[in-house]
Amino acid sequence: MRVTRTDLPVGGVAAAGRVPRRSAARVIALALALLATACARPSPTPTPSPPTPSPSSPSPSSPSPTAAGLRAPADFVVLSDVDPSIHTDIRYATAHNFVGRPIVGYPEPLCLLTRRAAEALHQVQAAALAQGRSLKVYDCYRPQRAVDDFVAWAKLPGEQQMKAEFYPHVAKSKLFDEGYIGAPTAHSRGSTLDLTLVPVPPPTRPAYAPGQRLVSCTAPPGQRFPDNSVDMGTGFDCFDPLAHTADPRITGAARENRLLLERLMATQRFENYPGEWWHFQFTDEPYPTTYFDFPVARSSLR
Ligand SMILES: [Zn+2]
Repeated sequence: MRVTRTDLPVGGVAAAGRVPRRSAARVIALALALLATACARPSPTPTPSPPTPSPSSPSPSSPSPTAAGLRAPADFVVLSDVDPSIHTDIRYATAHNFVGRPIVGYPEPLCLLTRRAAEALHQVQAAALAQGRSLKVYDCYRPQRAVDDFVAWAKLPGEQQMKAEFYPHVAKSKLFDEGYIGAPTAHSRGSTLDLTLVPVPPPTRPAYAPGQRLVSCTAPPGQRFPDNSVDMGTGFDCFDPLAHTADPRITGAARENRLLLERLMATQRFENYPGEWWHFQFTDEPYPTTYFDFPVARSSLR
């Protein structure tokens, strides 16, 4: 159900690197034997779900059940069930993202969050609506397998079909080093999200068509992809210094819009990541050390 820091592949690789060669051969032989045993097993049969951890005492590590049994704790919700007025544009369930295809772990275009974060966001939405704006979420809970998909993609230097829009001025090899993509990410803890503001009602815009001509996310509004949001100075997931929330080159209405989003979110204890105007972490998150891996689907919820 969960992936914790201790389960992440980085630690495993580092530990294996310190094993002497002869021991390593034995370890590999043992691992292969275990793997063969595991592969020979019949399909997993449904087993009772493990107890939900108390939000106030997140478990630092717990057994990782098979993929078929991955379910969210009882306090995860679909954001639209808590507040149907918040718009959703879940880019990782579509081809319109920096990879250029739907990301592993997003079978449905849903915003899943912990109930605590969703209810706080509902309060933010009420304040936004009072100012003639609505929230629009691009990404919410992100399973660990999606982060693994990003990591695998990052190792394929030839796969850069979306570079012209999403990272026109940053080398693909630097996306992790410069903090544009995080592994692990707070999104996997279920209380961090990416969002923007849209006018009420939002303007109608043509949908993204795979293969269409790409324009840099740093281009002026009117030239870059016609998102229906207010002008934030760059597009979403624009891996570029211009997307840094306080970049001094962002002035006028775009700067005001960034500050408005930051102010609205801060009232409910959502903290902005200074490297990305769209990324906010709920500081009162119930699972501060737990990285989940259930898919983004209604069937993952209890
Ligand atoms: Zn984010």
